[in-house]
Amino acid sequence: MVQMALDIENLEVSYGNIRALKGINIKVPPGSIVALLGANGAGKTTTLKAISGIVATRGGRIKLFNSDITNTPAEKITALGVIQSPEGRQVFPDLTVEENLRIGAFTVKSKAEIKRNHERVYKYFPRLKEREKQMAGTLSGGEQQMLAIARALMASPKVLLLDEPSLGLAPLIVQNIFEIVKEINKEGTTILIVEQNALQTLKIADYAYVLEVGEINMEGKASELIQDKRLIEAYLGGH
Ligand code: ATP
Repeated sequence: MVQMALDIENLEVSYGNIRALKGINIKVPPGSIVALLGANGAGKTTTLKAISGIVATRGGRIKLFNSDITNTPAEKITALGVIQSPEGRQVFPDLTVEENLRIGAFTVKSKAEIKRNHERVYKYFPRLKEREKQMAGTLSGGEQQMLAIARALMASPKVLLLDEPSLGLAPLIVQNIFEIVKEINKEGTTILIVEQNALQTLKIADYAYVLEVGEINMEGKASELIQDKRLIEAYLGGH
């Protein structure tokens, strides 16, 4: 049996009386891009927070390469190589691009590895190299999103969690960022991506799950789901 990078079984999370996740199952094979799709409030961000150890689970199990990481403290999960690039491009606006990247690398001990990550990041995002001395807050929305992903890559992720990288960005920029995400994956990083933009995401993903009010109501190969025009329109918005 293939060992999963992430194996989520019957995951339940509640906020008081609100059952945000009602027992969901998600598998992320190593080397793949798996998408978690769904409308606003479906529970996508909550899933990532549970994996990252930011919210407590009420039931179920989360395994990372076969070790149980359920309810492990967030800093330990980061140290194990599960790195989240947050929604809303939460970069540090008053620090430069370069300083933001250095913060991303804070868990990496080896100088050589930091240098390698730096070079890799600037290869993916040459615009960030051009703007390395610029305050992150003065970057465009697309550049800030690039920086959020770049900062996560500085931590040498084994599994990269991407929270809505297309949020608020123009279609052309989204396409550009998604191409880079695909490239990052091709070079070996396993990715779990959470998105409302189903069509663009299915183009780069291997497999996808559709979340609706705390439950997975559909899953399949991205190449098959993308054929289902009614699904794209009815459930997910065809943009
Ligand atoms: P979005 O696209 O807005 O991030 P989402 O699919 O990621 O949506 P979640 O943010 O995971 O959805 O929210 C799932 C449910 O849990 C929603 O009903 C939401 O209102 C609720 N919720 C999320 N965070 C909290 C919180 N801190 N306290 C109470 N309820 C919350």
